[in-house]
Amino acid sequence: MQSLWNDGEAAACRDDPLALRVYTSRLLGREPDLVLHGGGNTSVKTTATDLFGNTHAVLYVKGSGWDLETIEGPGFAPVRLDALLAMAELEQLDDSDMVRAQRAAMLDPNAPSPSVEAILHAIIPFDYVDHTHADAVVSVTNTPDGEEAIREIYGERVWVVPYVMPGFALAQAVNTMTREKDWAECDGMILMNHGAFTFADDAKAAYEKMIELVSRAEEYAATRTTPPRTSLEPPSEDLEALAAIRRSVGAARGGAVLARWDGDPASLGFSELQDVADLATRGPLTPDHVIRTKRTALVLGEDPAVDVEQYVASYREYFERNASEGLTCLDPAPRWAIWPKRGTICFGRSPKEARIVADIKDHTIRAIQVAEALGGWNVLPEKDVFEVEYWVLEQAKLARSGSPPLLAGKIALVTGAASGIGLACVRGLQRLGAVVGGLDVDPAIVELMDSETELGIECDVTDDGAMADAVRAIVRQYGGLDIVIDNVGVFPTSAPIDKIRAEAWDHSIAVNLTSHQRLWQLCIPFLRIGADPAVVVIASKNVPAPGPGAAAYSVAKAGLTQLARVAALELGEAGVRVNILHPDKVYDTALWTTEVLEARAAHYGVSVEEYKTRNVLRTEVSSHDVADLACAMAGPLFSKTTGAQVAVDGGDIRII
Ligand code: ZN
Repeated sequence: MQSLWNDGEAAACRDDPLALRVYTSRLLGREPDLVLHGGGNTSVKTTATDLFGNTHAVLYVKGSGWDLETIEGPGFAPVRLDALLAMAELEQLDDSDMVRAQRAAMLDPNAPSPSVEAILHAIIPFDYVDHTHADAVVSVTNTPDGEEAIREIYGERVWVVPYVMPGFALAQAVNTMTREKDWAECDGMILMNHGAFTFADDAKAAYEKMIELVSRAEEYAATRTTPPRTSLEPPSEDLEALAAIRRSVGAARGGAVLARWDGDPASLGFSELQDVADLATRGPLTPDHVIRTKRTALVLGEDPAVDVEQYVASYREYFERNASEGLTCLDPAPRWAIWPKRGTICFGRSPKEARIVADIKDHTIRAIQVAEALGGWNVLPEKDVFEVEYWVLEQAKLARSGSPPLLAGKIALVTGAASGIGLACVRGLQRLGAVVGGLDVDPAIVELMDSETELGIECDVTDDGAMADAVRAIVRQYGGLDIVIDNVGVFPTSAPIDKIRAEAWDHSIAVNLTSHQRLWQLCIPFLRIGADPAVVVIASKNVPAPGPGAAAYSVAKAGLTQLARVAALELGEAGVRVNILHPDKVYDTALWTTEVLEARAAHYGVSVEEYKTRNVLRTEVSSHDVADLACAMAGPLFSKTTGAQVAVDGGDIRII
């Protein structure tokens, strides 16, 4: 591992201990082999002056909720050092009391809660303290002769701390252990099954000691192991099976999940190991991963429903075996799965959650193979892992993220998604927590929808092959399909029946009617195994109230409405709801330019404003109004409604 220290960058924070602390913390955070997603913590001891001019010795320690990779000055909590040192001397301290006492000792009540390791940082008598959960170090400690190996690598100048639960217990253990020792004779500490500490009065020295310590573990492992197995053949695809696995896991979780399938060479290679079922169920890389990944992975076999059921049962047994009175069992759903010969699947109620699990999984499967080669992947007993999983301080981290949004974990497909009602539906679904695949013939869709929660696909809906590819791309990306908002449509030039050009008629039927049947044909197999699946069809007021000159449009939309009614009948037994929206007088779409609006208003001898509000409620209808109703129809509010036709038009006397 290389030091990323740069004199030029560091010069900018010279003479400012906290700025330097931020700088080297970020250097640690940039290396995922050292820390992952909130793991690790750092501190600096300095002084701070309060409102009354009194100077205090202060420990600035990483605040909970911050990542080392992106931490800033305000991410460090300023805690009075004397209070922390006094706490270290207590016989006993409940972790919740510890957090309260630490907060009470902060110079800034608005700062984040200090890390649970704050007391440990305080008792280490150096200004800069760095702590990581380095893969290489933990891999070596997670073996049967881990402690011997650590002593062989580091010798006398690195102290070894047996595993103790993080928090007060760990600080107290280190305090007791080091009371008779001379810190000047120590280059760092290795915490078994947990990670490493380095320290110095200089930011660069503390950081570079960490790099050196970790490099020595990496070299030790490299000379004794072969690289983890990789598989270069792409895995065969079975998207229907993926969607079925996702459904079972979502049911166990009590809410829809996304399923992120990784068939990359490392994940695939791991899934092909003979003893993968054993390796993936021994325990996590470090106990703090348990709140993200659970203790074990799901190992898939023939029937995902049965596999998930067994996982849930064994999770409940693990809870019963280890729980003390008063604890409530957390949701028993797996967070990642081994899909033999296909790779791994990570689950999350959001893409971010699934990504965090996937990052931890990538490091875990590598560490497992390193440890196996070093003598055996040997993790902590389950009671230690349980203690961390059900630790109030870890649970508080999860609770801070709040309750998930209404459509969390849902996967939607929207057609005609690049503008107008379609784009408003995409944004509305995202606001409610869903991920969305958007189809549009406009190539701009690809850049317009390009983030973790959306996938823009250029697609001509009259091209069956392109549409099949698009549906599969969405399922491959997110693991299934729950919601279809079928919005695509074209409005042909107005013409009486005897003047309609054949191509204009055919094109309207192809886009406004036939493409929808083709799309549903592709989606129905996935919707049948979706989470509370729903189809929302954007039809038109032309269905209940046709107008002269719009035959090609009205006929196609009437056909589409009939198609949706039949779909509601056919799909009801599978729980798929199909509802229909009839929008009208939506003037904020590309179709209605200022010129067109002015021309129409002039035609009726009214102002543009009057023209836009010519409805019973005298109100303007926007594409967002339509989208809000479409999103509601896709959600739980309409869970008992199917085959319904609802107008969103401000009220039309011809329909009322
Ligand atoms: Zn730690």
